[in-house]
Amino acid sequence: MEFELTSEQKMLKDTVSKFVDKEVIPRAPEIDEDGKFPVENFKAMAELGLFGISIPEEHGGIGADLLSVVLVMEELSRGCASTANTFGSHAILCTETLFRNGNDKQREKYLPDMIAGKKIGAIAITEPESGSDALSLRTKAVKKGDKYILNGTKMFITNGPLCDVSVVYAKTDPDAGPKGITAFIVEKDFPGYSTGKTLKKMGVRGSPTGELIFEDMEVPAENVLGNVNEGIKVLMNGLDRERIVYSITPIGVSQGAFDIALKYASERVQFGTAIINFQMIQEMLADMATEIQAARLLSYWAATLADQGKRVRLEASYAKLFGSQVGMRVVDKATQILGGYGFISEFPIERMYRDMKGIEFGAGTTQIQKLIIARELIKGMGGA
Ligand SMILES: Cc1cc2nc3c(=O)[nH]c(=O)nc-3n(C[C@H](O)[C@H](O)[C@H](O)COP(=O)(O)OP(=O)(O)OC[C@H]3O[C@@H](n4cnc5c(N)ncnc54)[C@H](O)[C@@H]3O)c2cc1C
Repeated sequence: MEFELTSEQKMLKDTVSKFVDKEVIPRAPEIDEDGKFPVENFKAMAELGLFGISIPEEHGGIGADLLSVVLVMEELSRGCASTANTFGSHAILCTETLFRNGNDKQREKYLPDMIAGKKIGAIAITEPESGSDALSLRTKAVKKGDKYILNGTKMFITNGPLCDVSVVYAKTDPDAGPKGITAFIVEKDFPGYSTGKTLKKMGVRGSPTGELIFEDMEVPAENVLGNVNEGIKVLMNGLDRERIVYSITPIGVSQGAFDIALKYASERVQFGTAIINFQMIQEMLADMATEIQAARLLSYWAATLADQGKRVRLEASYAKLFGSQVGMRVVDKATQILGGYGFISEFPIERMYRDMKGIEFGAGTTQIQKLIIARELIKGMGGA
């Protein structure tokens, strides 16, 4: 087993790390406070080429492996979870999905502007009545000539309030269950498209989340992504990769919180000594550091196996489940170490605590990860 990053991976991590220290961390409080989309960070990420990170060079991207994507997501999350969320939805959930499933014409039409950051992307699966049970979605698409007419509402869509392009899932054959779902590439200017309210959230406030509303929305038939009634293939095709990318988000935030807690503990004096000298504080720091490293390795391991072309359904869910659990424990301990100062918004720990809860829901909740793990284990025993 190899634990060394390649020189390219190290260089990428280093570049993003410097960008995060210099630009992302200083902007994070304002992004949270104003619930403001991180425009400057978005532009800078485009300039760094991050939006084409997983797209092959011949299609205008960097062509990096999944572990590299994980390293980038980790660094961005260390500085600002809202910026990381924006990156994930735009670059991975939308742009990479368009690349993996799009035909030549679709790739030519959409990828250049997405990679350049001229257009903002989103993925729209969830609906008011269908969350974890995503395949029970109700949005309908009916063929009419060379168009599909879509009716329905999507809920909780990251980048939704301002996205230019979204990958939308709808039922084309409502009686066929999961085999009657189709993916569509939707543009915000299509007739019948509108955005509902932007949702006020506990955390990741700079990553706008909202509703997309389709009222007799006209989508050209050429915008079917993949094949009609095979939307499930589009959805499943990248799901394990996406889970791995999102498994590192809580670890990036945790590392940011840990760094602050460690520094604070060495500076804060009580009872005549820095609180880092108290063994109960040391215990918390030791637990945090160990759990962060264990969760990080699970993500890196899952990404490495995926890069080797292995099936990683189980490993992706191990990483996502453990990462989310560790994340909640770490921000809780970091808050404890900062005492009352951890509870006020002048210190970033308060923001990280709130952000962490929102991160847990993406790419499948904790309960859904446990269900997947159990199902895979049972399958491995030759069960259902
Ligand atoms: C900040 C944020 C950003 C998001 N971004 C997007 C996006 O860009 N695109 C998109 O399509 N969606 C997005 N989502 C939606 C997200 O994927 C859903 O919130 C998630 O799938 C859970 O669905 P739900 O909220 O409806 O909860 P529900 O599915 O209603 O679940 C409620 C509770 O029941 C539990 N539960 C559900 N089923 C089971 C079961 N079988 N066994 C045990 N427990 C169960 C869940 O774990 C949860 O604790 C986002 C959500 C948030 C909060």
